[in-house]
Amino acid sequence: MQLADGGAIAFDEALWVTEAAAAPWLAETGLALDANGFVETDEYLRSPSDAAVFAAGDIAAMCGHPRDKAGVYAVRAGPPLAENLRRALADRPLKSAVPQRQALALIGTGDGRAVASRGVFAAEGAWLWRLKQGIDRRWMRGYSEFAAMSVDDAMRCGGCAAKVPAEVLRQVMTRLAPVPARPSRSAPATTRR
Ligand SMILES: Cc1cc2nc3c(=O)[nH]c(=O)nc-3n(C[C@H](O)[C@H](O)[C@H](O)COP(=O)(O)OP(=O)(O)OC[C@H]3O[C@@H](n4cnc5c(N)ncnc54)[C@H](O)[C@@H]3O)c2cc1C
Repeated sequence: MQLADGGAIAFDEALWVTEAAAAPWLAETGLALDANGFVETDEYLRSPSDAAVFAAGDIAAMCGHPRDKAGVYAVRAGPPLAENLRRALADRPLKSAVPQRQALALIGTGDGRAVASRGVFAAEGAWLWRLKQGIDRRWMRGYSEFAAMSVDDAMRCGGCAAKVPAEVLRQVMTRLAPVPARPSRSAPATTRR
């Protein structure tokens, strides 16, 4: 590998690992950005340059509380973001949303083991891979298996069927009487779509 300063490094395998970069279009928004081009926020996830703009996750950089660009922070910012959006709309005081300082990092090493680190602590082993698998699988199940809702629960969204868990939808559908088939109109087959 040839370096910018003229040096060279020999290698067998190169792992090119970069950190997240900010989207270039953010520079055109006029929002206050940090030195790396991410949207600056205060501790309430609100832009200091536009009170109507909130940011969370990778795109955001909370002043005075820098964090890695990692899903764990992005996901955990969701509830406080929703809460503060509601509060802002209702003209109520916002709640501090400073994220936790550290998070557990688990990296699989491809041999049934994983390396874990949190702050200054580190460990490795097969049990950590099993832990990572458990966490990842539980997360993915969250997209396909939903907590059962009572059929009688009022739907807050007004009944968008796409958001109804499959089991609830099945229960509702089995209650419905089948609609008799309508007689088809006599149109030439060639004009039907
Ligand atoms: C390969 C890889 C592996 C990772 N593994 C892990 C991990 O194991 N654990 C972990 O904690 N984190 C991991 N991360 C980091 C994690 O994915 C991010 O921190 C997280 O997804 C950030 O969530 P977000 O909602 O802020 O942004 P994103 O998930 O990036 O969502 C932003 C969305 O906005 C959309 N978008 C962008 N520009 C526009 C636009 N102009 N108009 C409309 N939509 C737009 C994008 O398409 C995207 O869907 C990984 C990241 C990568 C790339």
